[in-house]
Amino acid sequence: MCGLSVIPRPDAPVRFNHLLLGFLSLVILLDSKAQQTELEWISYPPNGWEEISGLDENYTPIRTYQVCQVMEPNQNNWLRTNWIEKGDAQRIFVELKFTLRDCNSLPGVVGTCKETFNLYYQETDSEVGRSLRENQYVKIDTIAADESFTQGDLGERKMKLNTEVRIIGPLSRRGFYLAFQDVGACIALVSVKVYYKKCWSIIENLATFPDTVTGSEFSSLVEVEGMCVSDAEEEADNSPKMHCSAEGEWLVPIGKCICKAGFHQKGDFVCRASSSQDLQCSRCPVHSFNDREGSWRCDCEDGYYRALSDPPSVACTRPPSAPQNLVYNINQTTVSLEWSPPADTGGRNDVTYRVICRRCSWEPEECVPCGLNVGYSPAQSGLVDTYVTAVDLLAHANYTFEVEAVNGVSDLSRTQRLFAAVSIATGQAAPSQVSEVIKERVQQHSVHLSWQEPQQPNGVITEYEIKYYEKDQKDRIYSTVRSKSTSATVNNLKPSTAYVFQIRAFTEAGYGTFGPRLEITTKEEATVLCIVVIIIASRNKGFKFPGTKTYIDPETYEDPNRAVHQFAKELDASCIKIERVIGAGEFGEVCSGRLKLPGKRDVSVAIKTLKVGYTEKQRRDFLCEASIMGQFDHPNVVHLEGVVTRGKPVMIVIEYMENGSLDAFLRKHDGQFTVIQLVGMLRGIAAGMRYLSDMGYVHRDLAARNILVNCNLVCKVSDFGLSRVIDDDPEAVYTTTGGKIPVRWTAPEAIQYRKFTSASDVWSYGVVMWEVMSYGERPYWDMSNQDVIKAIEEGYRLPAPMDCPPGLHQLMLDCWQKDRAERPKFDQIVGILDKMIRNPNTLKTPVGTPLLDQSTPDFTSFRSVGEWLEAIKMERYRDNFTAAGYSSLESVARMSIDLGITLVGHQKKIMSSIQTMRAQMLHLHGTGVQV
Ligand code: AMP
Repeated sequence: MCGLSVIPRPDAPVRFNHLLLGFLSLVILLDSKAQQTELEWISYPPNGWEEISGLDENYTPIRTYQVCQVMEPNQNNWLRTNWIEKGDAQRIFVELKFTLRDCNSLPGVVGTCKETFNLYYQETDSEVGRSLRENQYVKIDTIAADESFTQGDLGERKMKLNTEVRIIGPLSRRGFYLAFQDVGACIALVSVKVYYKKCWSIIENLATFPDTVTGSEFSSLVEVEGMCVSDAEEEADNSPKMHCSAEGEWLVPIGKCICKAGFHQKGDFVCRASSSQDLQCSRCPVHSFNDREGSWRCDCEDGYYRALSDPPSVACTRPPSAPQNLVYNINQTTVSLEWSPPADTGGRNDVTYRVICRRCSWEPEECVPCGLNVGYSPAQSGLVDTYVTAVDLLAHANYTFEVEAVNGVSDLSRTQRLFAAVSIATGQAAPSQVSEVIKERVQQHSVHLSWQEPQQPNGVITEYEIKYYEKDQKDRIYSTVRSKSTSATVNNLKPSTAYVFQIRAFTEAGYGTFGPRLEITTKEEATVLCIVVIIIASRNKGFKFPGTKTYIDPETYEDPNRAVHQFAKELDASCIKIERVIGAGEFGEVCSGRLKLPGKRDVSVAIKTLKVGYTEKQRRDFLCEASIMGQFDHPNVVHLEGVVTRGKPVMIVIEYMENGSLDAFLRKHDGQFTVIQLVGMLRGIAAGMRYLSDMGYVHRDLAARNILVNCNLVCKVSDFGLSRVIDDDPEAVYTTTGGKIPVRWTAPEAIQYRKFTSASDVWSYGVVMWEVMSYGERPYWDMSNQDVIKAIEEGYRLPAPMDCPPGLHQLMLDCWQKDRAERPKFDQIVGILDKMIRNPNTLKTPVGTPLLDQSTPDFTSFRSVGEWLEAIKMERYRDNFTAAGYSSLESVARMSIDLGITLVGHQKKIMSSIQTMRAQMLHLHGTGVQV
């Protein structure tokens, strides 16, 4: 048992750093130790609790109540306090200090002696006399000692003082009684203290906030409006507010008061009249005005603004007019745009340009944002020069481009956006890259290759060209072979020679670009040890080439069914057994069940169904999630088993995650995990996100509710889709920039101008870290979305949850850097968390210390199978792993087949390294703890 007195964890208290004038936030309603005269509480029956004078641990005289009827069975001794008026409190704390004898130390009491007592309360509007009726009391808790005794130096047993705190509330009557029920223990009740918490009156930002009683729930924040101090007034649209936390602390100041005209701020709290010597008046700058003499600032005229960084002495300015003379030039699927500066710069010299691209269907004309598939050179926004090139547009598609001029006050203006626009249609494009190449057979003089059609053929592919050369040849002479199908044999090669192969496709529009280089060494002449290469298609999606796979937006497929079948396996409905309903999804029920594929063990699965009577669009949106999920293969990303599209109901079959979503799971197990276990979960999520960002996939809705947890505590990223994930998310709300956004989880630039990137996912990841470390607390508690946006803009960040090591909070703060380029990458986050897991001392790193991992790379820092093999000097077997489909370290850790490595020493070396890898992965992805 723990030797310290334990205050049960009420929940995570959280605080913002700010000026706090209040000191102790407690208001004491009863303190038995402070009373020198008799307490005269009611005791029943009379031979039970007894009031006895004693000395506390500091030898100060105190009044105590004691009972010790341990020999007699069936004890029921009650003690009731006097009436306690609650004042304006809603949530009351009861702190008990007591000693409790250990029954083992009392001879002859077996069966009658107890080691607990019960705490009750009764709410009333006034005193109710001295009779004690048990059934009128509500039980608060059974109280046990943390430490009945400790062994003294001489072996004697010493009594220990226990402290326990319980919370009651919300209370609705004017007052209450507390009662203690003894059922046969030997107790001395040394002190009873009853109090509530208040945020004491303070002055902040020239506004006074009155004494405020905390809310009734632990997680509630009481919003308080401030009153400006004398001679100050509220800043326009920015009235002062603060939030009183359940712990009696003021949090999150928003808005402010400013001194009135003719007054100036003196110190932190007052406005003083400015004397005539203080004032050196000058004319208001252009487009600003003031009707009061002696004012220290001039307000902007309607439609004019000052940027946050503008001093009050400069002119007010407005957004620029639209760029002029926008012209374009199309070359197949590349568009160059050029324009002239706006006629009116708004009076500023910080004009830049941003481009908005929309892809439009032909009939009816409906446009959707182009998303991340279109690239921009030099950039999409922040353009200083008056030109941009957009690349990777779809062939034969309609687009509109809007070019907007913006300056330092554009985001402050509520007037309509002014832009220049063009509509264009792209031409035919050459096919995209051939990236998924499989080495089918390697002989002494030949190599047989097969590959998949490029993701975007952009026409009918009539031929493929295979280019190859000897890797070590100095003057690199290429040879080519052509093939009409998706396989070819390259003959006349030299034995034991490394060759490099690349493939490209040909259509009417010409050749596409070559795919990535594939290196293959032909076999030795008269080889004795034959290396058997087993080709295993990685899961259902064919072989993956390490480091080359990128995410493909299913929306780019004209026929969405093709996208589904490209990425997801069609399952036979007869292999699926639905067992029970476990949840409701946007499109229909979510069930659990079993999947039994021929020749495989049956596995638990979650089955998402599409409800009957769906429209074609709903079916497409529903299956879109499968088209995305099916592209991923990572232990921390939820795995798609397959889809049923050729029967009814239409189903998506996913691996089963026994513990459901992470937020609910943490709330259910509040306080039950070690920090290392929590960090292990966070590491898993970061590794999943590293994989997704490496694939070029931006999640946009990363939050604990969208992480699933399995029975081994392994966390996996889930909820994929395009706009639909957000539409489906109850947290998402419409913002002024259009579109729904889960504000509390979203980076400021994504809220303000929909800049969603892996860096904005990193911001959301920081919020997930906070959710995990606070066991599922709601980020920013019950603040409104508007207040959250404002607080973040003013520089506030969520404070460390209770018991959260400073190192982890620092990492959260790094994820919440305003400048997204300053945020760590997922790769670095994984490195930092790994370091913490290996060396838990780093969790204690003081706030403010940079965390980026500088240590020697360890096992888990290898990014690819190649890197790992190099480190253990076994790189000669790289092809064996590649050919057998082991493209990631995770898949290597799971491997069980013989790769035909015949040298026993090498086999042992590789296997022992894989064993270490497994142990580390088990530790990192899941801690192996059953919940
Ligand atoms: P969704 O439509 O993805 O939000 O799913 C609705 C609910 O079904 C979720 O909140 C989960 O509780 C549950 N669920 C979804 N997928 C799984 C899964 N793979 N394993 C277990 N439960 C799941």
